[in-house]
Amino acid sequence: MGIRTGQGYLQSLRDGRRVLIDGEVVADVTRHPRLAGAARTISELLDMQHDATHAQALTFDSPSSGEKVGISHLLPRTPEDLRRRREGLKTWADATYGMMGRSPDFMNVMIAALGAAHPFFGQKRSEFGDNMQRYAQHCREHDIVMTHVLVNPQVDRSRPVEKQEKDLAAKVVREGDAGFWISGARTVSTLAAFSHEVLVFPSTYLTPSPEAADYAFGCALPVDTPGITWISRPSVSSGATASYADLPLSNRMDETDAVVIFDEVFVPWERTFLYRDVELCNQVYPKTLSGPHAATQSAVRALAKTEFMLALALSIARSTKIDEHLHVQGMLAEIMVFAETIRSVITASEVNAKPTPWGTLAPDANALWVVRLGFPKMFVRMQEIIQLLGASGLVAVPSYAELQGPGRELVERYYQSAQSDADSRIRLFRLAFDASMSGFAGRQQLYERYYTGDPVRLAGTLFNLYDKKPYHEQMSRILEDIQRRHESGQQMEETRS
Ligand SMILES: Cc1cc2nc3c(=O)[nH]c(=O)nc-3n(C[C@H](O)[C@H](O)[C@H](O)COP(=O)(O)OP(=O)(O)OC[C@H]3O[C@@H](n4cnc5c(N)ncnc54)[C@H](O)[C@@H]3O)c2cc1C
Repeated sequence: MGIRTGQGYLQSLRDGRRVLIDGEVVADVTRHPRLAGAARTISELLDMQHDATHAQALTFDSPSSGEKVGISHLLPRTPEDLRRRREGLKTWADATYGMMGRSPDFMNVMIAALGAAHPFFGQKRSEFGDNMQRYAQHCREHDIVMTHVLVNPQVDRSRPVEKQEKDLAAKVVREGDAGFWISGARTVSTLAAFSHEVLVFPSTYLTPSPEAADYAFGCALPVDTPGITWISRPSVSSGATASYADLPLSNRMDETDAVVIFDEVFVPWERTFLYRDVELCNQVYPKTLSGPHAATQSAVRALAKTEFMLALALSIARSTKIDEHLHVQGMLAEIMVFAETIRSVITASEVNAKPTPWGTLAPDANALWVVRLGFPKMFVRMQEIIQLLGASGLVAVPSYAELQGPGRELVERYYQSAQSDADSRIRLFRLAFDASMSGFAGRQQLYERYYTGDPVRLAGTLFNLYDKKPYHEQMSRILEDIQRRHESGQQMEETRS
């Protein structure tokens, strides 16, 4: 089948999925007033794969079927592959200003890497390796839009999941000839409302105990599997405001986050990749090397987002000519430095890419950690700069509808600025409000902080992985040198006296 059309995608979401929002079951996510905007945005991304302008960047020929498939499924084997994949990722990220963390390429890159690492899954039960390889191919050949859910619900973080008094986390409850059953909750799943499939994979760490085995599994299921309920947070998209342009990001790109509840959900063996195996679950991310591939998508998206925030900040500063002031130039230069840092990280990750045991090239993880741990702080600072530059302008522009309302003439006259007419100024400042102050903006902040895991434990992971030996050796050499100089100084003193 190969790449989907946007229309085909929207049609495919009209299935039996059970999505709850605002106390109601959503009948059709593609027509719900608060959800339809994001569904349309994903459909536009899929349509870009068919568009002559972007098809070259966004697709490649499937190695198995010869059909055109999404570039984010490309397994890089050469530096040229890394470049091609990066350009495709950037094309989609630019289309959503880097504001849609879970455009389908996020999961595609990860699933392709897990598929390449299928021997890892097959080391104890060969059929699980075959399942992983087949599943990655299935996602590529059918342009499956995916979400994933890794984290046990926030109940009691002072003890491991298998020791909780309130046992609410998803776990294996039964096993049969054809598969097993799971019940319980996982949190949170971004894009669930707009996905075809969910990858239910382990979180970061399970205690190596027999009791933890019930929570140690990895599988993939259709989002509309009987027994699955998705409970979404309230939308930040505003079905109610007068104009789309009042909240242009919220209305187009609220990808939703949902808690998933499994009620005796059947998982067939052929959709199982890990089963009651704490040891493999704890190794899955470091050993499959899927992390650097996923981090590449994140870094490319971070670059698109930074470039968007820079364009926004420059335009705000130009509109009232505050860019003539030195401290304003300083703030704009800060964002320029962020953009150039991320661009350099991406280049370094490609230049220092390393071969994997699976015959692929993995971008250099060390370089990508700069974005992984640094970007949340950069993004918060960029939002602060937009607020500092926009100042009262962020709250002193009216709804876009005023341009057609009874106050139209007043608005056209009094909302001009030195460099722009009222219409474009209102559009610019509503966009700036949505990027830096709205519910959408707050959720973006939280997303950047947590989407790839808890930053505290991530920093600990980097500390543990990082090769610290050369630095300890360097310091030993420096201290020895100081000692030598100290002793030779003493000798000179003694010679003089
Ligand atoms: C907007 C958003 C979208 C997301 N999308 C997805 C998604 O699509 N799929 C998915 O699987 N996950 C997703 N996540 C979840 C993400 O993976 C988790 O937020 C992240 O792993 C942190 O877990 P937690 O939120 O349960 O926080 P917690 O683990 O409860 O941590 C909360 C605080 O307590 C501290 N803390 C808790 N336990 C410990 C401990 N043992 N040691 C040290 N400190 C601790 C943390 O440092 C942190 O400050 C998303 C999160 C957000 C915010």
